[in-house]
This record gives sequence, structure tokens and C-alpha cells, in this order.
Amino acid sequence: MGKKDEVSKQFLDALEFRGIKRRDFLKYCGATAALIGLSELYGPKIAAALEKAAKRQPVIWLNFASDSGCTESFIKATYPSPAEVILDILSVDYNETIQAAAGKQAEEILAASRKAGGYILIVEGGVPTKKGHGMIGNKEMLDVLKEMAGPAIAVIAIGSCATDGGVPAAKPNPSQIIGTGEALQRVGISKPLVNMDLCPVNPQYLVGVVVNFLLLGKIPDLDSQGRPKMFYGQTIHDNCERRAHFDAGRFVEKFGSQEEALGYCLYKMGCKGPMTYSACPKIQYNDRTSWCIKAGGPCIGCAERGWTDKFAGFYEPLPGVKIPGLGGVEAGADKLGAIAAVATAAGIAVHAVATAASGRTKGKDGGKK
Ligand code: SF4
Ligand code: SF4
Repeated sequence: MGKKDEVSKQFLDALEFRGIKRRDFLKYCGATAALIGLSELYGPKIAAALEKAAKRQPVIWLNFASDSGCTESFIKATYPSPAEVILDILSVDYNETIQAAAGKQAEEILAASRKAGGYILIVEGGVPTKKGHGMIGNKEMLDVLKEMAGPAIAVIAIGSCATDGGVPAAKPNPSQIIGTGEALQRVGISKPLVNMDLCPVNPQYLVGVVVNFLLLGKIPDLDSQGRPKMFYGQTIHDNCERRAHFDAGRFVEKFGSQEEALGYCLYKMGCKGPMTYSACPKIQYNDRTSWCIKAGGPCIGCAERGWTDKFAGFYEPLPGVKIPGLGGVEAGADKLGAIAAVATAAGIAVHAVATAASGRTKGKDGGKK
């Protein structure tokens, strides 16, 4: 079946009318196929699935305790953006942050959607369980979740606030905020649930999960914490562009230093990449422009459950990490400094000789200039 047979001309014309070129849209669908582990030949099938969904797949997006950073991340994405694909093509009937409706009108939309049922429920933000600490339309957020999760076909918790409370639930957590999974258990609702830990969620992860659902009619394979294996199957450290420096024992010890300019490993600056599972180095943010470590910041481990308390302070090295460049030494935060300082100095010296010999310098991401 050719592209034209699968995706109607009318649909592609409608997209073009909204400023999304058909060629870009089909290209985007091909890239999305690759994102979820399918051949790019599945692109037209994804386009067809989205066309079908435009007619019948409603989405409800609830905002609880958060800074709405996940919505921000989504709507700031580039053209043809996941926001356009999901928010324009799918029928997002309710999203408090970006919808025009408010007050009674917004409440009516929620009531009508609840009655119709069959929607995908996206949850952004944690759920306060202390009475009066999180209200929408004079209702406790926990009750809003209960009402709206009941008729949903699946629930997707986006961002670490939604999966386990995230930043708003950090100690001492005065509002007793919990994640979506725990909240659903508390109100006795069992639904297919996908957890997308990250702060904020990567828009491409959400597109991948929604497209997987539309195309294959099921949520993707999940790990023990309910995260899609396709995005949470490997550590940041496994795919990090600074990994060769780690393996050789070349570390940044101070921001603004020569080692930092050379793009050395950020382990000693507190990088939590060795214990954090997420595809950030592969998928990156803003149309693969950059990501935390490429931009020069150590990973703070925001893809891991309980990261706000577990990984604080964020600039302290993780204990118990084996460092191959130092002969497989397992160094704790206390003893790493002295060992690695020697290796770093040696690494810089070797690098300087090699650079002078080749006449090249390296950028912050370790790439050649
Ligand atoms: S910067 Fe972090 S993730 Fe990258 S190699 Fe170093 S420790 Fe591993
Ligand atoms: S690299 Fe680390 S801190 Fe940055 S988004 Fe990924 S998991 Fe979070």
C-alpha cells in the first residue's frame, strides 16, 4: 500500500492548511518509527494511525502539583513539533495550561469527556494528599484523578512529579505529594499505566508512547518501575559522549577549568549518569540540539525514582563507581579525588601532546572542531 492510499489527501491538505507541510509530516512520522524501534518504512502507517486518531482518539491532560515544565517542554519543541502532532492532530479536549476554556466551561468539558470515556489520560504533576493543599474547581486533586482515571483507557504519567511527586515531593514534602501510580492504588483504580520519569519529560518519549499505542493498540513494554524499556533500557553513562574520558580517567574537577574546556568527564562534578537509566544522550532535547551533559552540566539523575532526595547534593560524586581508567578501582566520594587527580593531570598532558601533534582542538562535547 502506498503513502497516498494510507494517508488521505484530505488529511494532508488539512495539515498543510495548519502550516505543517506534508513532506515534513511524513518525514517526522518516519523518524518517530525509528524512535520506537521500527523501520522508517512504518512512517506512512504512523501517519495513517494519527489520521484515524484525529477522528476518534480523545486525550485529557491533567495538571496537578508541578511548574508545568512538561507542557512547556512540549510546546517549545521544534517544527513539525510533537506539540503539533499530538495537540493539533489528536483531540486534546482538556489541558488547563494551554486551553482557552476556564471555570465553568472547563468543568463542563471534563464532565462531558468523563461521560464519553475512552480517552488517554495524561497526568502532569504530583498529587497532594493533605486536605486543601491541591484543589481544582473546589475538588481535591486526588478526587479529580479518581474521577478522570476511571473512564480512561490508559494513563500516562509524564515527568517525575507525576511518577513519584518529583521536586514538589522532596523532603519534607509538606503537602504529602505522591505519584500517579500510588494515587491510583489509594483510590482503588487499576489501569494500564506508563511512567515517564524525567524533569521535564522529553517530548519525543511521549510521542513515542502515544504513537506506539495508536499503531499497535497497546502500551509499550515496561520495566519494573513502569517505564518504557525503549527509552529507559540503558544508563546515561552507557551512551555518554564523554565516556571515553571517564574510561581514561580524565575528569573535570572545577568549572571554568582547562579540563572542562576539553570536555572531560563530569563524574567528579557530581554526574549521576552511571546510575541513571534514560536515552537522553541518544534522543536529546530540542530536535536533538543538545542535552544536559553536552551543554556542560552533570546529569542530576532526574530519570530515577526519588532522585530529588536520593541524589542530593547534586555536585557530589556518586560513591561505589568503578573507574576502568584507574585499573578498575571502586572509588567512594571521599577517596576518588586523590586517585583521579593524578590520572586527570596525566590525561591532560597526554592529550596536549596528541593535540599539538595533530594540530586539532576538541569542543566541549568531545567532538572535533
Ligand atoms: S559525564 Fe557522567 S555519564 Fe558521561 S561518562 Fe562521565 S560520569 Fe558517565
Ligand atoms: S541527562 Fe540526567 S539530568 Fe539531564 S534530563 Fe537526562 S536524566 Fe535528567
